[in-house]
Amino acid sequence: MTAKIPGLPISNDELRALFDHLDRANPEPCTHTFKETAKFLAAKSLPVEPMLNWLGNNGAGCDCEVIFNTDARWGEQVGRTSPEGEL
Ligand SMILES: [Zn+2]
Repeated sequence: MTAKIPGLPISNDELRALFDHLDRANPEPCTHTFKETAKFLAAKSLPVEPMLNWLGNNGAGCDCEVIFNTDARWGEQVGRTSPEGEL
């Protein structure tokens, strides 16, 4: 459950919080940038540039792709349940 994610510059809990934030109900439409992600990281005093680089290496090119690609790959590792979970 708490397996280390290679190269991740923030904690697993912080990554889950980022996924939860971007995956919230009724988000603003994606602007095809990391605007929301960068804002979230900056607000928490987390390393923005290293994290955006990590996301780029893990399938995301913008906020919505963080959910489509990076959450799909690593979400379970940080305690997220997939949309098609076991329910
Ligand atoms: Zn997008």
